[in-house]
Amino acid sequence: MVKLEHVDKHFGALHVLRDINLTVSRGEVLVVIGPSGSGKSTLCRAMNRLETIDSGQIIFDGQPLPAEGKALARLRSEVGMVFQSFNLFAHKTIRENVTLGPVKVRKVAKDAADRRAMELLERVGIAAQADKYPAQLSGGQQQRVAIARALAMDPKMILFDEPTSALDPEMVQEVLDVMVGLARDGMTMVVVTHEMGFARKAANRVVFMADGQIVEENTPDEFFTNAQTDRARDFLSKIL
Ligand code: ATP
Ligand code: MG
Repeated sequence: MVKLEHVDKHFGALHVLRDINLTVSRGEVLVVIGPSGSGKSTLCRAMNRLETIDSGQIIFDGQPLPAEGKALARLRSEVGMVFQSFNLFAHKTIRENVTLGPVKVRKVAKDAADRRAMELLERVGIAAQADKYPAQLSGGQQQRVAIARALAMDPKMILFDEPTSALDPEMVQEVLDVMVGLARDGMTMVVVTHEMGFARKAANRVVFMADGQIVEENTPDEFFTNAQTDRARDFLSKIL
């Protein structure tokens, strides 16, 4: 689905991605873990070209990532993204937040988009809130709307950048449950998270990053119980 080859990226003098080589196959769930500043968000953002890279290449569905124009717009609709801060449109209802992309970008008819939005809101458990505004929902509910909004574009892959780290603890599980459901349904997912429970339940592979490099790639069980590098063991001892 997506393949990164020798990807390098600097922010000025800071070398944030160093020779990243990574493949995510269709239907695979990859968890990315690592200390703050290690390049996890930059890696995610590079995959839908919210961030450019300096060298190397990123192949999505057999094609290099497009730089601009219609091809870039299509890429953005095919690669959904869910952020830590839900980024919903505050002045639109929940239903409108979910239908906006399909109607504006995908040119889906309004009533078809509406029906689909209601199905998706049902799936993430908030159909009853469809006509409320984001501020009237809890953080966990808003994040589930953000997931429904990403799904409404029929993405081939969804990138999640710490989707639960801004949530109150009691709301984390409801969002993770939706994500586990997506994983079980075969969605291709790249998930930056330190939620070990999610990784164990849903991930096929864990990638540990430090200083812009992939230091270790492992199965979740191996990674959490028997990490291969000092770097990873040290990190795990701090978060677990
Ligand atoms: P966190 O766990 O805190 O979210 P991260 O692993 O996601 O960290 P990135 O956000 O990818 O890390 O950042 C990697 C490095 O690049 C950090 O040192 C960060 O300060 C720097 N950085 C990120 N975005 C920019 C930018 N737009 N301009 C300059 N430096 C940046
Ligand atoms: Mg980050």
